[in-house]
Amino acid sequence: MSGSLRLALFGPPGAGKGTQAQLLKDKLNLAHISSGDLFRHHLGEGTELGTRASEFMNKGLLVPDGLVIGMVLGEVAGLGQDSGFILDGFPRTREQAEALDTALKVRSQPLDLALLVSVPEAELVRRLGGRFICRECQAPHNLEESQFTSPPRCERCSGELYQRDDDRPDAIQVRIGVYQKQTAPVLDFYRERGLLKEISGVGAVEEINARAITVLGLDSPGQVG
Ligand code: ADP
Ligand code: ZN
Repeated sequence: MSGSLRLALFGPPGAGKGTQAQLLKDKLNLAHISSGDLFRHHLGEGTELGTRASEFMNKGLLVPDGLVIGMVLGEVAGLGQDSGFILDGFPRTREQAEALDTALKVRSQPLDLALLVSVPEAELVRRLGGRFICRECQAPHNLEESQFTSPPRCERCSGELYQRDDDRPDAIQVRIGVYQKQTAPVLDFYRERGLLKEISGVGAVEEINARAITVLGLDSPGQVG
């Protein structure tokens, strides 16, 4: 049976919200809609939307609302009426939040909760700056500066490791600034409606997931799954 929770997940870049979204999706049996993944999929397919979006993504800037809203709400519209979902990376502006609100009202299926995964800024810079991906097997790696070799190699397949354009130091600062400026007002939008819950994103992945399950009120026996 699929879960029916309707959740939006928030957190600065590097907070690990994608990882938590994946775990929650599996545990609670929800659809997972990630705006970043949708854009990367479009880019991989070579669509015009993907090409246009990548110009902003590579610089760490938000893709304009006009390109984002239709794409994500199209995915939501494709879900079954009773299907629960996790939105990951959307809404990221006040305008996106309002468009989502309207679309869900039309379906009589308002959001149940907005969950913020928070991580101190110094920790974000450290995490993102050390994130490398294998060109061959795509495995993510976290490298400390002392481990940098040129070029760094994958532990699994010794493929060459590279950094996503938007994980380079200058783009990281832009992304964190954009989050603070444009996405913080979205948190207020949900706080005003009494829907916002916050957990710390520092610690082990499973530990953070347990915090999420707890604030969602799903950790009493018999309610999970
Ligand atoms: P992160 O959370 O690490 O920044 P994402 O995969 O969520 O990574 O997003 C990558 C990029 O895709 C963002 O930096 C932005 O350019 C674009 N993007 C994703 N979601 C949105 C959105 N809702 N609105 C505008 N741009 C977005
Ligand atoms: Zn590899």
